[in-house]
Amino acid sequence: MKHQIVTIDGPAGAGKTTISKLLAKKLRCIYVDTGALYRGVAYEIKSQKIDWENDVCLDAFLKSLDLNFIKGKDTLLLTSSKKDITPYIRTPEISMLASASSAKPQVRSALLNIQKNIAQNQDAVFEGRDMGTVVFPDAPFKFFLFADLSIRAKRRYEEMPEADIKKVQRDMEKRDTNDSQRKEAPLVAAPDAIKIDSSCLTIPEVVEKILIYIQKGRSE
Ligand code: C5P
Repeated sequence: MKHQIVTIDGPAGAGKTTISKLLAKKLRCIYVDTGALYRGVAYEIKSQKIDWENDVCLDAFLKSLDLNFIKGKDTLLLTSSKKDITPYIRTPEISMLASASSAKPQVRSALLNIQKNIAQNQDAVFEGRDMGTVVFPDAPFKFFLFADLSIRAKRRYEEMPEADIKKVQRDMEKRDTNDSQRKEAPLVAAPDAIKIDSSCLTIPEVVEKILIYIQKGRSE
């Protein structure tokens, strides 16, 4: 039997993570944060001081890379060479490096099989930038979440009030530009994705909207 895959794509701060987690709980399936993989690449680039803009160095680095998801208490944890690196991948510096290095086609193809393999064994909600367009183009349920830049920046700032909100917004805008203008797997809604503007919606409202679409789709 083919497993049911729900894809949630969209820019940073649109609410993808919170919504995908709640959705997966409701659907009793796992939630996969594919951004963590790109962050894992960035974390190792930084730790190993890799000259990632040099293709020869990048290829050798990717060959030796051993990223995996393992089951944690509530979510999946990201390991690199068996070490849990989940606590170290959420810094602003890693966000920017993940966005820059994820434009490299070799990085994207190195991570493709990890994502596809997870989907072979179970139902899942996959969150990312290219889930509905590249990784799971045949997924039955695709959503694209977005919101105004200033609202997204405010949400991110509320998660880390020690940060400078102007910098949070600038970084977010830069990542949006990198992610949507890159050649390989740009951030764009799949033509058959349901687009949801979360600017003026609460999290439960977005989850409810998505569940209604899924239930409707299943009964058709
Ligand atoms: O989703 P998150 O903010 O953790 O992603 C970090 C970065 O990883 C994004 O800015 C994007 O450049 C990259 N990414 C990607 N494709 C995905 C998920 C994330 O290119 N499917």
